[in-house]
Amino acid sequence: MIEPSKVKEAFNRIEDENYSFRAYLKNHADEEVLDEQFSKLHKELFLSNDCSKCRNCCKEYSASFKEDELAPVAAFLKIAEKDFRDKYIKEELGGYQLNVRPCCFLKEDGGCQIEACKPVSCRDYPYTDKPERLFGLLSIVDSTSICPVVFEIFERLKQEYRFKRRKRY
Ligand code: SF4
Ligand code: SF4
Repeated sequence: MIEPSKVKEAFNRIEDENYSFRAYLKNHADEEVLDEQFSKLHKELFLSNDCSKCRNCCKEYSASFKEDELAPVAAFLKIAEKDFRDKYIKEELGGYQLNVRPCCFLKEDGGCQIEACKPVSCRDYPYTDKPERLFGLLSIVDSTSICPVVFEIFERLKQEYRFKRRKRY
């Protein structure tokens, strides 16, 4: 698996290819078969991956919260919900985004300060074991620029589909 610090550089070399493979999958993959393939690779690769040694997602993306996820985090941090909103949250596109990047809850040891009540968006990232991946391929390609596991999943899928690679990363 590629090192977390090298994902962005590798993605830049094969960005066009990843978008081409996305288009190939849209035209050739069966929805259910593709979900099974993603799910199998997700399980296999995350089993041997230590996310605490990476945390690229916590550095590159802003955590997003649903309305009912704000109060539990404020309570966990022992501050009033209004103060939590004022200090950490911006409303964007009908949702609630953390207003700082890298995430201010990322600890030096790679842990999450709000692990016990972190939002679903953090728990579910990178969504590679979720259904209907055929319709979420744009965000998967985006994640191939951030997440070493998603990068590897996409490379393995290229092999499974015998997709002709044009570039080496
Ligand atoms: S989900 Fe991916 S990007 Fe996030 S910490 Fe784990 S390996 Fe890194
Ligand atoms: S809340 Fe925790 S898991 Fe989510 S981005 Fe911040 S450090 Fe990462």
